[in-house]
Amino acid sequence: MPAARGLRRAVIFLGPPGAGKGTQAKEVAQRYGLPHLSTGDMLRDHVGRGTSLGRRARPIMERGELVPDEIVLGMVEERVSRPDCANGFVFDGFPRTLPQAERLDEILRRRDLGHPLVLHFVVDADRLRQRLTGRRTCSVGGEIYNIYDRPPKVDGRCDNDGGELVQRSDDREEVIAERLAAYKRQTRPLVDYYRGLGVLRDVDGSGEVSAVTRAVLKILTQAD
Ligand SMILES: [Zn+2]
Repeated sequence: MPAARGLRRAVIFLGPPGAGKGTQAKEVAQRYGLPHLSTGDMLRDHVGRGTSLGRRARPIMERGELVPDEIVLGMVEERVSRPDCANGFVFDGFPRTLPQAERLDEILRRRDLGHPLVLHFVVDADRLRQRLTGRRTCSVGGEIYNIYDRPPKVDGRCDNDGGELVQRSDDREEVIAERLAAYKRQTRPLVDYYRGLGVLRDVDGSGEVSAVTRAVLKILTQAD
């Protein structure tokens, strides 16, 4: 497949935990040569560099509290102002709320990037539950497996380094229903907002990774 040309759009991956959007965001960023942004990376970067935003965020993160929008959006604005974002970027896991989306729109407007293209991953609830409860992480290298979709060669052991595979506490059955409900509550206004702007595309995230990638690339080609 020939290298895809620049989109000159911000592409936002929106979807519940377990929808596979992270994998797809990475693929799109690579194919289009766009930076793959996450607010987690930005926070770590600012704290590491000791910037003024980082110095404000650090004690809040150390207390395990949610960093306020004002700080996060300051980091977002600084990040998307860098030259590598001039032709667009891929955002995975942000925005999460309507106020964040509205502020992001202002930032994009100032940078002449227009409205983002929003890929909304839709996956049936039972399928999501299966993906999340099946997820196992290597305790050594952090590699992610799934006992249903991507099992390791040896039960309970990482293919790369033999590390023990563990289940994250928030991937346990009893926590998942609450996580999915919280996601729905928080993102419904966001979905309505982007749908109203005509920039949201639904992506069926239930299938195989490669099938979902094809669907995503088709949407991006049509958005060119
Ligand atoms: Zn490993």
